[in-house]
Amino acid sequence: MLKISQLHKSYPIGDSSLHVLKGIDLNVESGEMVAIMGSSGSGKSTLLNIIGILDEADSGEYTLDGVEIKNLNEKKAAIYRNKFLGFIFQSFNLINYKNALENVALPLYYQGLKRKERQEKAKFHLKKVGLLDWAHHLPSELSGGQKQRVAIARALAAEPKLLLADEPTGALDMGTSYEIMEFLQQLNDEGKTILIVTHEEDIAKMCKRIVRLRDGVIMEDKKVKQVRAGQNV
Ligand code: ADP
Ligand code: MG
Repeated sequence: MLKISQLHKSYPIGDSSLHVLKGIDLNVESGEMVAIMGSSGSGKSTLLNIIGILDEADSGEYTLDGVEIKNLNEKKAAIYRNKFLGFIFQSFNLINYKNALENVALPLYYQGLKRKERQEKAKFHLKKVGLLDWAHHLPSELSGGQKQRVAIARALAAEPKLLLADEPTGALDMGTSYEIMEFLQQLNDEGKTILIVTHEEDIAKMCKRIVRLRDGVIMEDKKVKQVRAGQNV
């Protein structure tokens, strides 16, 4: 599904530059649930943004679903993002003046679906995350866990092959974090490939494989016995 080799990324700072990713090699197969772990500043978000085609590496190779991701213009990048990828962020990134249903339906607009289809699909996915009764509520009327569920529904609505989550539980209390992880585990059980960036050990252990980054290098990459989030809720 995803093949990365010898990926490098630096950010310019003044006259010099900060070398953030220093030769990353990573393969992810369809159906995996992978945690990308590391302390703050280790390059996790940088790597996830490159995987998400939100940013581009300086050198190295990246193939997503058989397509080489290289020198894409913004339009092509957007097409691949919409086709392959769903995003979940720590801060939910919902649109505040749109209700839950409209938030979930929005990406479908960019897929060219008609209004009725968008509404139906959005309802289906809101139901899937248990929030159909909240369809007409604004984000400000929802709890943190509910907002993240809406964000997950939005990510799923476009039927991505790969779900990318950057600290999805970072703004949630422990109980709510585990509920979100339980839901992500269910999605993975159904076959969805999921990559989760986290700096929390307990969250990483709920994945099936842990990749540890330190100073832009993969220190360790191993399969683990998945801790089921439901046991902790
Ligand atoms: P993590 O997600 O692991 O906390 P990041 O990938 O966000 O780490 O950042 C890695 C390093 O790169 C940090 O030192 C950060 O300050 C720096 N960095 C991240 N984004 C930028 C940017 N757009 N410009 C300059 N430096 C950046
Ligand atoms: Mg980060």
